[in-house]
This record gives sequence, C-alpha cells and structure tokens, in this order.
Amino acid sequence: MGARESTDRYFHEAASLMGLTANMQKLLLTPERQVKVQVALEMDNGEVSTFIGFRIQHNNARGPLKGGLRYHPEVDEDEVLSLATLMTWKTALVNIPYGGAKGGIQINANDLSPAELERVTRKFTDEIHDVIGPDKDIPAPDMGTNAQVMAWIMNQYGKYHGFTPACVTGKPVELHGADGREEATGRGVGLLTVAMLEKMKEKIIGAEIVIQGFGNVGSFAAQYLHNQGATIIAVSDAFGGIKNEKGINIPALAEYVAENGTVKDYPESEPVSNEDLLVTPCTVLIPAAIGGVLTKDNASHIQAKYIVEAANNPTYPEADDIFDQRGITVLPDVLANAGGVTVSYFEWVQNRQYFSWDIDKVRDELDKKMLDAFKRTWEVATTKKVNLRLASYLLGIGRVGRATVMGGI
Ligand code: NAD
Repeated sequence: MGARESTDRYFHEAASLMGLTANMQKLLLTPERQVKVQVALEMDNGEVSTFIGFRIQHNNARGPLKGGLRYHPEVDEDEVLSLATLMTWKTALVNIPYGGAKGGIQINANDLSPAELERVTRKFTDEIHDVIGPDKDIPAPDMGTNAQVMAWIMNQYGKYHGFTPACVTGKPVELHGADGREEATGRGVGLLTVAMLEKMKEKIIGAEIVIQGFGNVGSFAAQYLHNQGATIIAVSDAFGGIKNEKGINIPALAEYVAENGTVKDYPESEPVSNEDLLVTPCTVLIPAAIGGVLTKDNASHIQAKYIVEAANNPTYPEADDIFDQRGITVLPDVLANAGGVTVSYFEWVQNRQYFSWDIDKVRDELDKKMLDAFKRTWEVATTKKVNLRLASYLLGIGRVGRATVMGGI
C-alpha cells in the first residue's frame, strides 16, 4: 500500500462517519495543483545531474497553502500528495489559517556539497517561485532540509519579488526566523506525550521511551521528555541505533551527535538495529524518522503501550488496525507533530508585522494551541467512541469541509 492510499483510507473512514457524499469526498481529496519540475544541477566536478522536484498544493479553503519541503531519494508524487493532504487536516486541526501543501526533490542531500545543495535549492526556487509566496504557499523545512535551505529560498524568491521574509518559514533566527521554531515539533511531541500519559493516569517520571530518528524532531522530543523525567532507553538514526535500559544521557548524546553525525557507537550503550529498536519493550514508542515503518509484519511484535507519531505517515492502516485490536493507543501524526507548523505560523505572523516575539511567548502560545487541539481530539474520541486518529480527522475534515462550502465552490 502506498503512502497516499494510507492517508486516503483514513480520510474515507472519517468522511463516511460524517456522512459526506462521494462528490464532496472527491472534492476534498483532489489536489488543487500539482507542479512537477526538472531540477538540473551542475555538480562541483562539472558534470550535470538532473533531479525531479514536486510542489503539490492540496487545499486552500482555510488560507494560504503551507507545508514542508523534503530532500530525500525516495520522494515521489504519491508520497508528496499524501503529505500535502495530511497538512490540510493538520493545519485545520490546530486551527491555524492555512491550507495544506508539500514539496520535495528526489535527492540525497548527504551526497551533495554545500555549494551543490545551494545551487539545487536556488534552481528549484526558480522553477516554482510563481506558485509560492506569503499569500499563496509557504514552504518550510522537512526531512533533508533546514534553516539554511529556507534562507536560500527566501533570497532567491526575493530576486523575483523583492524582500519577502514571509515566503518561507523555518529560517535562521538571524535572518527573520522565529526563536523556538527549530525545537517546536519535538517540543510539541514531548508536550502531548506527557498530556496523553496524564490522561491515561501513567507517570512520566521513569516512563520508558524509545525513539526512532535523532534529527530535528527526534532530538528535541528526546530532550523535552528527558527534562520531564522520562527514561529514554533506545534511540536510532539512519546509520544504526543504541540502547541502555538504565537510560541514555540525552544532553551528552546530543553533543556526541554534533561531533560524530550519528548516534551509532555512542559510549555507555549497546548497539541495536532499527528493526529491533521498534520492537523494544517500552511505555512509549516514538517513530521520528521516515514513513511506513510500522507495518502489518511488525505490528504484532511491537511491545509499546503507546505510540506517538512524530514522523509523518509512520503507520500503515493494517498496522493501525492491529494496534486498535491490541489496545495500543496511537497519538496520530496530524496532532503529534503539529508543533512545527504552529510555530511556522507564528514566524509568518511576526514577519508580516516586522515584530519579534521572545521565546517564552512562542512556547506559551505553542503549548496553548497544542493542548487545545489535544483536548478537543480527546473529547471527540471519547464521545464518538473512536480512536484518536479518527477523532483528529473528524475535526480537521469538518473544518475544511465547512470552509469549502462557506467560501463557495
Ligand atoms: P531530519 O532530517 O532532521 O532527521 C531525520 C532523522 O531520521 C535522522 O536522524 C536520520 O538519520 C533518521 N533516519 C532517516 N532514515 C532513517 C531510517 N531508514 N531509519 C532510521 N532512521 C532514519 O528530519 P526531521 O525534520 O526530524 O523529520 C523527521 C520526521 O518528522 C519526518 O517524517 C518529517 O516529515 C516529520 N516532521 C518534521 C517536522 C519538522 O518541523 N522538522 C514537522 C512535522 C513532521
């Protein structure tokens, strides 16, 4: 099953429960625009490489389109469309005035020099600058992209349209970025993990946490949960994993990763493969890397009481069904990782006002938005007797559907 089939299945399940007609379902699922471009790059050695870049704009009924830009060799149209629809439900769920989009280039950023990465980013911006912008579509970082990439996009976009910092979010703080954007997704993941455990009358102190992925999201989630007194017992990245039942010293691990570029071979730990990491007994499993890691093949072997989807699309529907049957509570991606887009919204607001908030205000507003969305989702799940994923889709689709109808078709 492809990424798109998975997200579509969740959509149809919620839409049917809401009684949406087949025509309305088709209207809400069909993307408004799909852009596919050639990105030709002159490599440092003088050779030319050609890549494919995508920007898929799903739905702008509630405001300008918003979504990340991913550099990964496995980026394809199906996946980008699936991620764009997720953004539509996510921005609606946390109630920020945006629609949903996503972009990506089929590229391995690790194989490129910084100069090549800059050239490929500027070339891609040349190709899509007409369809993005502060009132149209605002890209942000995702896997393989970061604040530096956003700075290049802002600069290149400015060559066509003049100084426009609000055309991208997740920029460096020195260049119109927002304090607190970098940590935002991981902080939101940590905050809602604590909120969910509280609801379930579980203690955060000593709760055993396993995290796949130690990039932007995984590392900040680990840091937040470590500070709350949880015990992070296993962590991995694309190069391998580590475990220590007594708990990993997360600040020391972050320093090690800054020096070595991976968690692999971190002292005071044993190695663990990514496959074994996922089935490690724990209180909370947090997939925070790539999509499609929880499948019908490993779902029966997962030994976590709770799963918090920090990554987008980590769970296939067949696995989700197994988790339901086994009583494993899943905090879905559209809710769990919405902290990033929420602080992106705060960055956009600050850029448009030419006024900066301090970090305490950013964190307070983020926590309020996330906890409000969590509370509403929990209420819907309880009153309608559905799982948290279905509840979050019901809320998100409901808001987008109403805006679409009220705006006129
Ligand atoms: P990142 O590039 O900073 O980090 C990704 C991490 O995953 C790295 O540690 C990498 O080594 C690891 N990884 C990659 N392939 C792997 C594999 N096959 N097995 C195990 N680990 C692997 O990316 P990120 O920004 O942290 O994003 C992670 C996930 O969170 C993605 O699914 C992304 O869509 C989602 N997300 C990110 C944000 C954000 O603000 N950055 C917001 C919402 C959702």
